[in-house]
Amino acid sequence: MDELVPPRKADISYETEQPVRYETDGPVAWIVMDRPKYNNAQNSQMTYALDDAFQRAVNDDAIKVIVLAGEGKHFSAGHDIGTPGRDVAQTFERRLLWADHVNKPAAEMLYTREQEVYLGMCRRWRDAPKPTIAAVQGACVAGGLMLAWVCDLIVATEDAFFQDPVVRMGIPGVEYFAHAFELPPRVAKEFLLLGERMSAERAEQFGMVNRIVTREALKQDVQAMALKLAAQPRLGLWLTKQAVNHVEELRGKRTAMDAQYHMHHFAHAQGDLTTGNPLGGQDAKSMVAANKKQAGES
Ligand code: ZN
Repeated sequence: MDELVPPRKADISYETEQPVRYETDGPVAWIVMDRPKYNNAQNSQMTYALDDAFQRAVNDDAIKVIVLAGEGKHFSAGHDIGTPGRDVAQTFERRLLWADHVNKPAAEMLYTREQEVYLGMCRRWRDAPKPTIAAVQGACVAGGLMLAWVCDLIVATEDAFFQDPVVRMGIPGVEYFAHAFELPPRVAKEFLLLGERMSAERAEQFGMVNRIVTREALKQDVQAMALKLAAQPRLGLWLTKQAVNHVEELRGKRTAMDAQYHMHHFAHAQGDLTTGNPLGGQDAKSMVAANKKQAGES
């Protein structure tokens, strides 16, 4: 099967071959993003490793609950827009029935890629037949939100914050548009239009976060919650999460996301046409600088 593994592009330099750790603790699978050097920025290498990990946890009948966590100071800085391991132009063995994006011209390239690695994968993980818990500390920004939002429950530390600053790129929110389902519409507008950080405490008020814990206790508190879930009947858990997900579908979540996905890609194309860059002329450095300025940090 080796000939099916796509050759790696020469200009990509991964700092690790294992951007995701898979660990088990009794009936709980811990899927841990492990690029702490880059605040767990999500490249495709990580996305496919996450998909492998979800698949493994679902396939193992001994696993009753899945936890998604991030190693280091932050849960996730979002999609990788600037590390040496940024691999947007890399071919991977795809999981969904899309064509390869790499050789597609202009706007078709990102449109195809993000259907697979962002919108498609996130929907796939959200529909996993086992309960999932996101364990969030520090930053949960942009693409990081998508990873937390696909989980059934979110436990955050006191210092966790949530932010989607991509309007600065001219883009109406990240590819998995759950904003207006996670937050009341006016709060979702504020969250997106201002692009400011939202504390875990405020997020909890809207039900976006289930529980707030100390950073020291995050792991043990999430494990304790997972063990309580694991004691419930397997099929009952699956049916119950499906029932609630179905209510979200009846409220139009999937069609809202499909509509926004196209606005998102119109914005990528507009950025490309006006600045030669689908991120509207922004990069990791300029986004970090603007975020720090907005948060009053130097
Ligand atoms: Zn995008």
